[in-house]
Amino acid sequence: MEFEKIWQSVLGEMEVQVSRANFATWLKNSRLVDNRDGVFFIALPNNFAKEWVENKYHKNILGIVRTIDPSVKKIEFMVDGHLVGGIKKSPTKEIASKLENQIGLEFRVDPTTNLNPKYTLASFVVGPSNELSFAAAEAIVQEVGTKYNPFFIYGGVGLGKTHLLQGIGNEIVAHYGGKVRPRYVSSEKFTSDIVWAIRNKRMEDIKKKYRDVDVLIIDDIQFIGGKEKTEEEFFHTFNALYENNKQIIISSDRPPQSIPTLEERLRSRFEGGLITDVGYPEYEMRVAIIRKKLQEMNRALSDQVVDIIAKKVKKNVRELEGIVNKVVFYQDKKGVDVSDRIATEIVDSSIQNFSRHINDTQVIKAVAEFFSMEMIDLVGRSRKKEVVEPRQIAMYLLRDILGVSYPSIGEKFGRDHTTAIHSYEKVNREINKNASLNQKMILIKSLINKS
Ligand code: ADP
Ligand code: MG
Repeated sequence: MEFEKIWQSVLGEMEVQVSRANFATWLKNSRLVDNRDGVFFIALPNNFAKEWVENKYHKNILGIVRTIDPSVKKIEFMVDGHLVGGIKKSPTKEIASKLENQIGLEFRVDPTTNLNPKYTLASFVVGPSNELSFAAAEAIVQEVGTKYNPFFIYGGVGLGKTHLLQGIGNEIVAHYGGKVRPRYVSSEKFTSDIVWAIRNKRMEDIKKKYRDVDVLIIDDIQFIGGKEKTEEEFFHTFNALYENNKQIIISSDRPPQSIPTLEERLRSRFEGGLITDVGYPEYEMRVAIIRKKLQEMNRALSDQVVDIIAKKVKKNVRELEGIVNKVVFYQDKKGVDVSDRIATEIVDSSIQNFSRHINDTQVIKAVAEFFSMEMIDLVGRSRKKEVVEPRQIAMYLLRDILGVSYPSIGEKFGRDHTTAIHSYEKVNREINKNASLNQKMILIKSLINKS
C-alpha cells in the first residue's frame, strides 16, 4: 500500500487522540516519506513542527504505526525533503523522488485555486446524512453567486465538509474552465496571510488575492472567530465579494449561531444565505463509502469484512477510510483474504483504542477526575448545574464505550432508564455540533485509556 494511505490511517487515529487545534496545527501537513529497514520517515513542513511533533507525539505515532506494521522499530522526523537529526545525510535522490511520487499527480494542489483535484463531487457518496448539502453543492455549480449565497455547511470532524467544498470548486473549474475562478483557503491560512500582510505592510496584495476571485471557499471558519483583525478583513472581503455577486462558500464544525466569538454582523450575513449540515452516515452509506474507497484503491474485501467495518466505525469517515486502508494493507502484506476474525481484531484495536479491561467504574472515575469532582457526587442526586453535564457525559460514555444497557446505566445513577436515554441522546446530538464538548470527550477518553 502506498505511503499516503498508510499515513492517512495513522492521521485518522491521531485525530482522535489529540485536540482538533493541535491536529490542524502540527499534524495535518505531515507526510510519510519512506519506510525502510524498520524505520518510518515522517516529513513535516518546518523545523518548528518537526520538534513539536517529535517531542509531543513521537510515542503515540509509533504506537499507532506499530499496530499497522509491527516490524517498525523507529521513527525519524524530517523537515520536508531534508533529513534532520537521526540520519546525518543529505536527502538522497531516491527519497526525493519517492516524495515526488507520494505527492503524485493525484494530490497535486493547484497553486492558483488551491484545490486538490482528488476531491470531486463524483467521488462523494450521497445518503440521508448529507443529501441536502450535496444538492446545494450541485445547485451552486449551476448558479454561481446568484441563488445560494453565501453557502454555509457545518458538521463534525471527518464527515466530508472539506471534500464537498473542494468538490464544488473542482466542478466549477471543470464546468466553466477559466471563466469562473474559485479559490480555496483554510481559515488558518487566511489568518496567517492577514498576519503576514500586516507585519510586512502588504495588505493590498492580500486584498487582491482574496477579492480577485469569483468563488471564495473558506474552510473551518470557526478558527477565525475571535481573531479581531482577521475577522474584520474577512468581513470586508465578504462584503466586497457579496456585493459583486461572487459566490462565498464557508464550512464550520457548528452552525453560525454556535460560534461564540463570531461577530454579530458576520453571523447575520451567514444566516442570510443557505445553511446545510452533514451528519453521521448511516449503515448503508458507510457500506457505500467503503466500497467506493476500495474501488478507488483497486482492491477488494469480502462482504462480511465490509459489514464488520461498517457496523463498527460510525462517526467519522476519515476514521472509516483509515481502517479500510489498514485492513487492505494487512491483506496485501499477507497475500490472502483477510478473515472475519482478523478484520474484527484490526477494527477493534483501531477504534478509539479502548481495551477490553475497561469497566464502568473506570469510566465514571475518569469523568469525575476530569471535572474535579467526587464520584459519589457524580452518581448522586444533586441537580446542580455543574453536576448535570458531567453526569450526562458519564452516562453517554458508558453506553458509547461499553454498550451498557439503559436500565443498568439508570440504576448506577439512581435514575430511571428514560433519563439514561435522554442523556445519551442529548450528548450524542451535541457532540457533532459543539467543539468544546467534543474536546472534553477526547480528553476524558484519554484519561480512561490511561486508567
Ligand atoms: P471534514 O472536512 O468534514 O472534517 P473531510 O472532507 O476531510 O471531512 O472528509 C474526511 C475524509 O472522508 C476525506 O478523505 C473524504 O474524502 C472522506 N469522505 C467524507 N465524506 C465522504 C463521502 N460522503 N463520500 C466519500 N468520501 C467521503
Ligand atoms: Mg475539513
